[in-house]
Amino acid sequence: SSLPPPRTRIFKIIVIGDSGVGKTCLTYRFCADKFPDKTEATIGVDFREKVVEIDGEQIKVQLWDTAGQERFRKSMVQHYYRNVHAVVFVYDVTNAASFRSLPAWIEECRQHALGQEVPRILVGNKCDLRHAAQVSTDVAQQFADAHSMPLFETSAKNPYGNEDGSRNNSDHVEAIF
Ligand code: GDP
Ligand code: MG
Repeated sequence: SSLPPPRTRIFKIIVIGDSGVGKTCLTYRFCADKFPDKTEATIGVDFREKVVEIDGEQIKVQLWDTAGQERFRKSMVQHYYRNVHAVVFVYDVTNAASFRSLPAWIEECRQHALGQEVPRILVGNKCDLRHAAQVSTDVAQQFADAHSMPLFETSAKNPYGNEDGSRNNSDHVEAIF
């Protein structure tokens, strides 16, 4: 006579960007609050999840990260882009090329019906290395505005500050997802 347990809602977020920008580390930070010593280049899809409580309701947040190899893409791409609730585009602030790749990633999402109607955010990762930054906050903010996305700058490695104890003024990963 007891009620069935409430269904856990699933919220699927895909994390997109060039290889090496820190997608896998960001999903680790969010789901396990850890920075992995070592990541393998993602083969296929990396998948992590965490249950969060929002307004008394359990929400299962699934983070999908892909390396985007051509081999994988042909077979998996449809699956990957299905039932997506939000898209996180990631670049590495110390790697200008990863920032220049963003239009192609945005376009690819758009082709899979993930355009402005889906929540999309832009994340500049590796802000603990800001001294080596190649992409300024101003330039990134202009780009984010032009694509109607909020911008976050963060560090999967050091979410609270730099190794020397100084603040790196970045957004915490928790605040992003
Ligand atoms: P992915 O290919 O986008 O999934 O990138 P990974 O998460 O595998 O990270 C690629 C490399 O960048 C690894 O050597 C990580 O240790 C490093 N890395 C990831 N995030 C950060 C960060 O916030 N700061 C620094 N300094 N290194 C990072
Ligand atoms: Mg990866």
